[in-house]
Parts: sequence; C-alpha cells; structure tokens
Amino acid sequence: MTMDRNSDILKKRADKTVKGLRRSHSAYCLRCEKIVELFTFEEAAECFNTDERDIEFLANRLMLHRIHNKKGLVMICSISLFECFETRATRLLDPALFAKSAPEQKKAELESPT
Ligand SMILES: [Zn+2]
Repeated sequence: MTMDRNSDILKKRADKTVKGLRRSHSAYCLRCEKIVELFTFEEAAECFNTDERDIEFLANRLMLHRIHNKKGLVMICSISLFECFETRATRLLDPALFAKSAPEQKKAELESPT
C-alpha cells in the first residue's frame, strides 16, 4: 500500500519535472510559426563550437530567431540555429577544400575530360 503510494508520488513528481523543463525551454516562434526548443546564447555557442559573439552576430543579422522566454531572457530558436549552421558549414567547407587541392583537382579534371 505505502510502496504503491510512494511510487505514485514519485511518478507524479517526475512528470512535473519533465513538463517544467520543457516549458522553460520551448516557446512559440513567430517566424517558424510553431513551438520550438529554445537555446540560450551560451548553449547555442557550445553546440556549434563557436562563441556567444558569433551567435549574437547571427541573431543581429536575423539569421537566428530571437525569442524572449518567460523570464525575459533572450533565447535562440533551435530550428533557425540548426538551419543557419547547416548552410554555414557547407559554405565554409567548400573554399577550404578548394584551397588545399584545387590546383591538382582542376588539372586532373582538365586532363581527363568526362
Ligand atoms: Zn524560429
């Protein structure tokens, strides 16, 4: 009897914690037009191995969606974050690859036309 009651209480408490966390970390994004996960600038920077200045820079250029949470803190919309870094990563990757092996690659392409 008491065991059952206890586990019930624990279950309810766990549910509350999960819901509470979810609420504080997600919000409606006006630009995505749906509920999105929120990242703090710090979390966002950590996630993508960059710094908070970079995140702020992208947010200022409206590439990242800024959302105020209930505490009035400015948070970053996770969807815009992932989209931004996906396009950014491909853009940054290409010149780097070219810089290293472009001359040889071009030569090879010229010598063996397909
Ligand atoms: Zn968004």
